[in-house]
Amino acid sequence: MDACRADGLSPVICSAYRTREKQERLYQAEVERWQDRGYSQDNAKAEAGKAVAIPGTSEHQLGLAVDIVDINNQHLDETQESTEVQKWLMEHSWEYGFILRYPNEKSEITGIIYEPWHYRYVGREDAEQIHTLGVCLEEYLEGTF
Ligand SMILES: [Zn+2]
Repeated sequence: MDACRADGLSPVICSAYRTREKQERLYQAEVERWQDRGYSQDNAKAEAGKAVAIPGTSEHQLGLAVDIVDINNQHLDETQESTEVQKWLMEHSWEYGFILRYPNEKSEITGIIYEPWHYRYVGREDAEQIHTLGVCLEEYLEGTF
C-alpha cells in the first residue's frame, strides 16, 4: 500500500478479514438475489458460489485475502481492471507476496468469476513464480502448466 501510494496512487482496502458469520450473510444475500430472479434454491446456490465463496471456503475468512480498489472507482466489477491502482497492483503485488487470485480467463479453473480486486497472500517466492508463469493458484499447485 505504501509503495503504491508512493507512486502517486490511492488504493483503498474495502474488505479484509471476515468472520464466518459475515461470510454467511454475504452468501445468503447472494443466494436470495438469484432466487428473486426465479432460480431454484440449488441453482441459486450454484450461481451464488461463483461470486461469493461458500462459508468456510472464503480466503477472507481464512485471513489471507484483501480486496483493494482505486479511490476513484470503488465498484467491484470488471471496470476495476482499468484503474491505475489495479494496473499497478497487477504489475507489483507479487513483490510483496500477493497474487491476483481470480484472473481473467481462469474462471473455468478457479470456479470463481474474474475479480480484478481480490489479492491473496502466498509468500514472496511463490507469488513471483505464479506471476512469471502467468498461471492461477490451482494450476500452480497442481503443476498443470
Ligand atoms: Zn475478495
